Amino acid sequence: MHEMSIAQSLVGIIEQEMLKHEVTRLIRVRVKYGRISAIVPEALQTAFQVMTMDTPIKGAKLEIEEIPLVARCRECKKEFSPEDDLLIMTCPYCDAEFGHEIISGKELFIDELEAE
Ligand SMILES: [Zn+2]
Repeated sequence: MHEMSIAQSLVGIIEQEMLKHEVTRLIRVRVKYGRISAIVPEALQTAFQVMTMDTPIKGAKLEIEEIPLVARCRECKKEFSPEDDLLIMTCPYCDAEFGHEIISGKELFIDELEAE
């Protein structure tokens, strides 16, 4: 379960940010993840709770938001958002099926921190 190591690095980043801003209690953190980053939100939620159990972050609310997948067509260079099949992403403009460039959908980052 790689959510455990993701949660661990999240906690690390959060703790650094809190130190930097001299706050001690985390209220809420919002994380955005791409559709193909292979993250299971429920698993990340659980991992986050486990990882923060003995830290000042304990009890903070973790919001997880999905970022849609955006690809740029190899042929016509237009951007589109593939819906279902991630192996064959057919371009809605020119029907090209392979070799598209993924512009977003793979990332994972902290979007917002609320602390006091
Ligand atoms: Zn195209």
